[in-house]
Amino acid sequence: MECIFCNIVNRKAEAEIIYEDDNVIAFLDIQPINYGHTLVVPKKHYDNFLTVPPEELNNLIKATQFITGAVKRSVKADGFNVISNNGESAGQTVFHFHFHIIPRFNDDFTFKPRFKNYTSDGMKQYADKIRSTLSKYKDVFNG
Ligand code: AMP
Ligand code: ZN
Repeated sequence: MECIFCNIVNRKAEAEIIYEDDNVIAFLDIQPINYGHTLVVPKKHYDNFLTVPPEELNNLIKATQFITGAVKRSVKADGFNVISNNGESAGQTVFHFHFHIIPRFNDDFTFKPRFKNYTSDGMKQYADKIRSTLSKYKDVFNG
């Protein structure tokens, strides 16, 4: 299947590349939320956060930290968001995993989710559900 980010990695599609090493490439988002909005992408194709092998994720997050510092300094941002959208419901549109680095400026805009309130024992119920799933997968995680 055609993947625009694989095409950028392979130089079959153009991009404003700002960083590259053996495992990672970073380029400017074509539709920036703020100028300097950058995408950090593993060179190998993985659909989303859950399918990136831990070793790759290690490379990716280190590069993301390094590049974030440079982006922030370059555009004199007050802050930044490092985010990843996973799945259509979360707004993912390119199914090749990537981190967004979005420079932020005082008073530029606010994300406004509709916050929910837990019922009296709802919080514990959700925590129990997740704790029980975690304990099932713990051995896999610890290798
Ligand atoms: P997401 O919606 O989290 O999957 O993010 C995909 C991002 O890729 C969007 O912010 C797009 O603007 C950006 N994008 C799509 N095509 C290109 C491209 N050819 N070059 C640079 N950025 C792109
Ligand atoms: Zn790809």
